[in-house]
Amino acid sequence: MFHAFLVKYGEIGVKGKNRYVFEDALIARIKQVLRPVEGDFLVTKDQGRVYVEAEGAFDYDETVAALQRVFGVVGICPVVKIPNQDYDGLLTEVLSYMHRMYEHTTKTFKVHTRRVNKKYPMTSMEVSAAIGAKIVEEFEGLTVDVHEPELLLHIELRNYICIYSEVIPGPGGMPLGTNGRSMLLLSGGIDSPVAGYMVSRRGVGIDAVYFHAPPYTSERAKQKVVDLAAKIARYTGTIHLHVINFTDIQMYIYDQCPHDELTILMRRYMMRIAERIAKDTGCLALITGESIGQVASQTVQSLAATNDVCTLPVFRPLIAFDKEDIVTIAKKIDTYETSILPYEDCCTTFVAKHPVTKPRVDVIRRSEQALMAQIDEMVEKALAEDEVIEIR
Ligand code: ATP
Ligand code: MG
Repeated sequence: MFHAFLVKYGEIGVKGKNRYVFEDALIARIKQVLRPVEGDFLVTKDQGRVYVEAEGAFDYDETVAALQRVFGVVGICPVVKIPNQDYDGLLTEVLSYMHRMYEHTTKTFKVHTRRVNKKYPMTSMEVSAAIGAKIVEEFEGLTVDVHEPELLLHIELRNYICIYSEVIPGPGGMPLGTNGRSMLLLSGGIDSPVAGYMVSRRGVGIDAVYFHAPPYTSERAKQKVVDLAAKIARYTGTIHLHVINFTDIQMYIYDQCPHDELTILMRRYMMRIAERIAKDTGCLALITGESIGQVASQTVQSLAATNDVCTLPVFRPLIAFDKEDIVTIAKKIDTYETSILPYEDCCTTFVAKHPVTKPRVDVIRRSEQALMAQIDEMVEKALAEDEVIEIR
């Protein structure tokens, strides 16, 4: 019964003069996600509203699912959008809508009318009252509750008329492309895909880097990261996944440095390399899935020791989250099942039995001096051999 959707957006509405930038980014992203969906769509904006209209047959469920992955969208309203009508015409349309949607429903309701077209011959209050009364007359199960209605019937009088009552929730946030790009350190775990999703939800495009340590980590472990990137790319748009061979660096640190500092030293080199790629590709910040206290390398002291090598801002959206809360989001965005597949991670292969939990930055810096002979060359080699996989 629906051929159009009214797309409600949240915070964009308060961006003053820049508002059109946000609206245009939202529209561009909507067009992009609808491209693979069956149907021809027209996406337009009018007086602070964005509409998606299907021309001819289309797949309703797929359309809604696609719109639910567009950051910036807070609600998707299937709407009956018709040319302007006099009151009798409007009444006929509304009653027909109500019969199709709520024929045998028992609910309290309220009519909410907005009159943007000030030439409409009745006020919004008059339209609501008159139509409300007609609905009570025709539908036994529907009774008026103006304070807490279970069903809110919206009528919008513009140059055209919109009738809707359903609001399907969107993901919220800000439209992609309104906040530059950032580089996500993406492992195969539960946390980093969620971290990427959360930052991207604020309008940030994402690229990613994965540190691979063959033969200690398998092709399957790498494939898992590719699969995770594909899952989040459904929301974040195209991701360039940089696969960096980390084996030589990891082995060299293992040979030269105290084993209880291995994880911290590895994390520092991961951050350095990620930052180099970020700067080379125009990313403005790094993103990790770290959360205070989750593991030895994520105590506050460890985080400080890792952060010591970074000059770009490092976004850690999960920093104060409990694991349970992270898992809830991972399930919602459908990365959880992939994340829990049991393939090894490059950090676990060499991990010390008793890693330092309170590293001192000066001690760590001193340990790194043992690497001076070869490490720069190894970093350059790893960067030169960067394998870039484009994930759409
Ligand atoms: P995750 O669930 O995201 O793997 P984790 O709890 O296993 O996190 P760590 O292994 O300490 O935590 O890693 C902390 C963060 O460092 C990760 O969230 C991720 O951003 C980054 N990271 C760790 N290992 C890798 C890797 N092999 N490649 C890229 N990034 C990594
Ligand atoms: Mg991990």
